[in-house]
Amino acid sequence: MAAQNFDIAILGGGLQGGLAALAVLSQHPDARVAMVEAGARPGGNHTWCFHAADLDAHGAALLGPLVAQRWERYDVFFPNRSRTLHTAYAAVTSDRFAEVVEARFRASPRSALLTGTRAVSIDPRGIELEGGRRLEAQLVVDARGPERFESFERVAFQKFVGLELELAAPHGLTHPVLMDARVPQTDGFRFFYLLPFDDRRVLVEDTYYSDGPELDVPALRGEVLAHARARGFQVAGVAREETGVLPIPARSIGEPRAELPLPAGYRGGWFHPTTGYSLPSAARLALHLAATLGKSPFGAEWQRLRREHARQQRFFAFLNRLLFGAFRPEDRWNVLERFYALPEPTVSRFYAMSTTATDRARILCGRPPRGLSVRLAFENGATA
Ligand SMILES: Cc1cc2nc3c(=O)[nH]c(=O)nc-3n(C[C@H](O)[C@H](O)[C@H](O)COP(=O)(O)OP(=O)(O)OC[C@H]3O[C@@H](n4cnc5c(N)ncnc54)[C@H](O)[C@@H]3O)c2cc1C
Repeated sequence: MAAQNFDIAILGGGLQGGLAALAVLSQHPDARVAMVEAGARPGGNHTWCFHAADLDAHGAALLGPLVAQRWERYDVFFPNRSRTLHTAYAAVTSDRFAEVVEARFRASPRSALLTGTRAVSIDPRGIELEGGRRLEAQLVVDARGPERFESFERVAFQKFVGLELELAAPHGLTHPVLMDARVPQTDGFRFFYLLPFDDRRVLVEDTYYSDGPELDVPALRGEVLAHARARGFQVAGVAREETGVLPIPARSIGEPRAELPLPAGYRGGWFHPTTGYSLPSAARLALHLAATLGKSPFGAEWQRLRREHARQQRFFAFLNRLLFGAFRPEDRWNVLERFYALPEPTVSRFYAMSTTATDRARILCGRPPRGLSVRLAFENGATA
């Protein structure tokens, strides 16, 4: 079977693959883009959020059509501190993502979106599909998601069960609650996350920063419903459920690799080691691939991007070692409570992976959070 030729072939139509395709097709409407996705539609089953300050103007333009909801502020609650942060926060839903990506491919007759199609192999020149069909491209991108990190040395996991609830009466929330940690601290640092979509629809997630990957989904569903009822929500139904177990690495996972096929998205290490967010990094890489289409992506701008990404990653991996190595699981909330006392620009740059030397000093210096155990830190090699 003769191979089909493209400018760029992307394996994995999730967040990274879809953003790369959108970025390339908006900058080069005549480009030949192939994207292969095993699922029935691009994007899977997610609600991806980001802080508006995570993105520059190009990133904001890329994400704009995908945003299903935007709020101008958000709250955090801890036992001794509550705070409203005046940073905009936005949500991209899988449905909106799939609609926009599919429409973009429909408008590009030289491109091919292959959904419901599994690849059996990938190499620097192309992608081999089930059934023997082969796609070849000048640039081959591997965006198959987080699985590569399953065998990676890691300290912990961020895991959660979220239910999008339909309510019989308005919930009364006007903006998201990013963390409500005023709950029993079982299985590590635990908090609820609430995203109000409209006045009778809200996503409620029970989230854990935990030492192990086990996720008792039925039990956590019950916890979510109990939390919703405790807030006075009249639950009429569950519209959608999402679960996740994301690795939280203890060591820097190294600079993104300049190799083909190009490892991208979570698979390529383009994610925030502490929050597990990957949308901002995925947007930066997508824009870079679009800007360098037809040339090598590994030029001077790549060096700058990957060095900065790796420098930030090393810092966050160190924070992870401290959080998980120097505090007992039930004391870890103190670290986050102290973090949320920092100036708002520092909090924003923390999420955006653009911390400055001053931010890093603010995060690490000063009075340590309650519960810090020097003995545990040494036993666990947290400061190494
Ligand atoms: C439930 C959940 C919520 C999250 N929320 C946020 C958030 O709010 N903000 C944020 O920034 N990050 C969030 N993350 C983290 C991260 O952004 C996501 O995991 C993100 O989807 C990673 O993007 P990706 O493109 O690397 O991988 P994925 O989006 O997982 O995409 C990989 C795609 O590759 C496809 N694939 C894999 N193998 C093959 C194959 N052989 N053939 C064909 N297709 C294949 C898969 O079907 C999948 O669609 C969340 C993660 C989860 C699990």
